[in-house]
Amino acid sequence: ADVAKLRRQLGNIRIRGKRCPKPITDFSQSGLSSAVLDVLRRAGYEHPTPIQAQGIPCLMSGRDVIGVARTGSGKTLAFLLPVLRHIALQPRAGPGEGPAAVVIAPTRELAIQIYGEAKKFSKAVQMKSVCAYGGSGVKDQIAELKRGADIVICTPGRMIDLLAMNSGRISNLRRVTFVVLDEADRMFDMGFEPQLTRIVENIRPDRQTVMFSATFPAQVEKLARKILQQPLEIMVGGNS
Ligand code: ADP
Ligand code: MG
Repeated sequence: ADVAKLRRQLGNIRIRGKRCPKPITDFSQSGLSSAVLDVLRRAGYEHPTPIQAQGIPCLMSGRDVIGVARTGSGKTLAFLLPVLRHIALQPRAGPGEGPAAVVIAPTRELAIQIYGEAKKFSKAVQMKSVCAYGGSGVKDQIAELKRGADIVICTPGRMIDLLAMNSGRISNLRRVTFVVLDEADRMFDMGFEPQLTRIVENIRPDRQTVMFSATFPAQVEKLARKILQQPLEIMVGGNS
């Protein structure tokens, strides 16, 4: 019954872009390791939500993606699971090495929320996540980053701070090949567009970049055009 419902919901997704992978109807179809699937099961995530069902295979195909779905629709796992697999395929970060994936979120609260979700999987994929945001000691965050991080979850302002303090190692983004901009509409409303542009300019151009948003106003579409390459656009039910 759940799968039938999911299939109906998948009919309400609008996709723009060529050669979009087919959605999954079960997490086990996504190529995730059994350790990650175990975490999902234990956390009570039985079936993917629509944005996860369509988003996960798209992100895992290596494409740039913009995913639009309302708040509470499960966007975090739609990018976090592909990030986990991406990290699992990279060499582990050594001391002083920068991360392989960066997630940018508009507020400290949202960054902490994503970090909490990421930590559930840390053991399963042996990855080190670091969360960095303004309004708290930058020294501790830098010390943590220096120990080596696979994924950094960060607010735009704090990432700019870290880049400005860059002594060539602490916040180097040389290893970053996967970038997530979460809550793109809110980041735009909060005036973070210049910071986002600066951040991606510091990351190699052959990176995979994905954006998630609850709404898709024209300015966000414009930002997506600037930052993403031949993206797949996934619009879940009623958002435009
Ligand atoms: P969004 O980022 O779209 O606002 P979240 O990723 O924060 O949504 O998820 C909203 C809630 O749904 C969270 O409490 C999360 O734990 C839960 N959730 C996410 N994916 C699933 C799933 N596949 N099955 C059940 N609950 C889920
Ligand atoms: Mg979210």
